[in-house]
Amino acid sequence: MTPWPPSIAFIGLGVMGHSMAGHLLDAGYPLVVHNRTASKAQDLVDRGARWASSPGEAARQADITISIVGYPADVEQVYLSPGGVVETARPGSLIIDMTTSTPSLAQRIAQEAEKRGVFSLDAPVSGGDVGAREAKLTIMVGGPDEAFQRALPVFRVMGPTVTLMGGHGAGQHAKMANQIAIAGTMLSVVESLAYAQRVGLDPAVVHSAISAGSAGSWSMSNYGPRILKGDFAPGFYVKHFVKDLRIALEEASARDLELPGLDLAKRLYERLAAEGGAELGTQALWTLYSAAE
Ligand code: NAP
Repeated sequence: MTPWPPSIAFIGLGVMGHSMAGHLLDAGYPLVVHNRTASKAQDLVDRGARWASSPGEAARQADITISIVGYPADVEQVYLSPGGVVETARPGSLIIDMTTSTPSLAQRIAQEAEKRGVFSLDAPVSGGDVGAREAKLTIMVGGPDEAFQRALPVFRVMGPTVTLMGGHGAGQHAKMANQIAIAGTMLSVVESLAYAQRVGLDPAVVHSAISAGSAGSWSMSNYGPRILKGDFAPGFYVKHFVKDLRIALEEASARDLELPGLDLAKRLYERLAAEGGAELGTQALWTLYSAAE
């Protein structure tokens, strides 16, 4: 039986993880934190979290281990390397990776965890930096219902919309469906504003008008204003979006599904990254169009 409140290890304190861990702390969960760059943990430690020197050290102390790191390679290192989370997590404990990663890695972690009597879920998120800050994330979960029910109160601290999508890896597949939709909306936001500007309209006025109509979208409302201000700070890193678009295309092509719109978005974002935009936010796609002015 897990004690209440369960102790939580939180690994990865970047744009998303820092806010998410902060909400868990505010909600009263005993929290142990780890991040590759230790300084990003300092204010959480000042607010009462304990610092652990490695992911494995963090997991050893927790009933539930949560991670949101960058890439599948980071996830693999955190969970499957010698002394990593799968090796050190307590039997009966629950491990939850919230990174956007591959469905197959989620399944591999689940298999290894199961051998040690550890439960696992993949639970990637949508809602961006704003959703993380405001605890309004959408959380897409893969794994067994028993583990899902155990994690639900913890998920609800980070976001109101939490859905069990199926078995291990299904959360990641749902997140890929989400990213395919975002790829389309990012292209449409940028191209509509580029058009408005080129024909001599005020893009800010057009944005305000069309956001309220049927062209409205989360990307239009959240990234449109950043584009209009010339604010290309992440947000959501271009380098991470390229990772997601590649995973989605690989998963689609493994099933003989052609997604030409997604392929175009991937090529444009790869070009943006190659031209020095990898560390910018995804709204910097605008610069490919404005550079052509
Ligand atoms: P981020 O700011 O780069 O955060 C990732 C954090 O993980 C960094 O602080 C990094 O450490 C840490 N990390 C990486 N590998 C590690 C390891 N082996 N051990 C310990 N810590 C490690 O990225 P983010 O924007 O928060 O995104 C995180 C994930 O969520 C990505 O997969 C992204 O695709 C996904 N996501 C992002 C958004 C968004 O809008 N930002 C929305 C939904 C999903 P350092 O500080 O040393 O770099």
